Amino acid sequence: LLTSPSPTDEPDLGRLSSARVVVTGGAGFIGSRLVDRLLELGADVLALDNFDPFYPRTVKQANLQLARSRHVTRFRLIEADLRDGAALERHLREFRPDLVAHLAAKAGVRPSLESPADYFDTNVVGTIRLLDALKHLDTLEESGRGPRLVFASSSSVYGDRRHDDPHQGFVETDPIDRPVSPYAASKASAELAVRAFHHARTLRLRQINPDAPPIPTIILRFFTAFGPRNRPDLALAKFARLIREGRPVPMFGDGSTERDYTYVDDLVDGVVRALVFEPSPQSSQEVEVFNLGHSEPVRLSTMIDTLAAALGRPARIERLPEQPGDVGRTRADIRRARSLLGWSPVTSFEEGVTHFVEWLKSLDA
Ligand code: NAD
Repeated sequence: LLTSPSPTDEPDLGRLSSARVVVTGGAGFIGSRLVDRLLELGADVLALDNFDPFYPRTVKQANLQLARSRHVTRFRLIEADLRDGAALERHLREFRPDLVAHLAAKAGVRPSLESPADYFDTNVVGTIRLLDALKHLDTLEESGRGPRLVFASSSSVYGDRRHDDPHQGFVETDPIDRPVSPYAASKASAELAVRAFHHARTLRLRQINPDAPPIPTIILRFFTAFGPRNRPDLALAKFARLIREGRPVPMFGDGSTERDYTYVDDLVDGVVRALVFEPSPQSSQEVEVFNLGHSEPVRLSTMIDTLAAALGRPARIERLPEQPGDVGRTRADIRRARSLLGWSPVTSFEEGVTHFVEWLKSLDA
């Protein structure tokens, strides 16, 4: 008797022990934590990254220290740009991945207002180059089945919609047609490109074998990541530097904006689950979308207080006007990820800040 997996089945992470996985953006904050986790699970990992100068190369090299020192044979790093389609195709053809986690992007809401074209170039055109390379990998298999794709999108695609009920979070089916920054628009556009790719891929597979199930394609919308290796441009890392140096901490607005801070390794756990997720044959006609967020928003003023307490130093606040591109509050509705991926965030904000501060201090040693 054939049974389709019930929603509460634990995903089979053991499958990753023999898997070949590409992580684009693998030298970055979230990407490098994902690389470490995949290596721990026994996967063969190729990290592809162009060391975008958005923040220092040395930071990204340090992110990969663990992967390099412990996993000489199962880890490789390729320095390549997503937008270089020919190079990308060559590297992927050589590695022949089973799975691709696409995390490479120009991240950061505010800088995207300064150079929107750069954001579209990497986040949209770069993503399309990757999709083209995956299409090429499909043709190398008799079955037409190349690797599956998990794409890292962002809560910013939801824009600044506010629900009357503050406890209601963004749901995956909410419209994403009102981005408030070029970064958000680039992520929403990349989601559309991923959907078009999935549709074309599914049609091609059916031409080869009308009964072939589609290859799952998964979009994950991350809500504000934080933790060890935190991106240096993000508020938590910037504020930590200022508090440690006794300099004023700029607080935009009245401190009442809220972010659904999500611990980086909880996000990584969600990506790993998505990589092995088996949708029901019916639903896999469509791209699967999951919010990954802690679902407990933290006020800006609370974030600063928690950070100052963990650092054991007072924060001197400097109040500044609200910034364009910022949204008032983010909160994830994570019922879908809970029931279908069996995913739950397990790290509280306070605990995550403690790990973050421990990591910061370890850099001084
Ligand atoms: P990050 O900047 O630390 O990592 C992104 C990596 O992509 C970097 O190492 C960068 O060098 C690489 N990259 C950039 N352009 C590239 C290109 N053209 N070719 C190859 N590599 C390139 O950012 P992060 O915070 O780790 O974010 C990872 C992903 O998660 C991104 O897609 C981001 O949009 C998404 N995301 C992050 C957050 C967050 O709070 N950090 C929230 C939502 C979504």
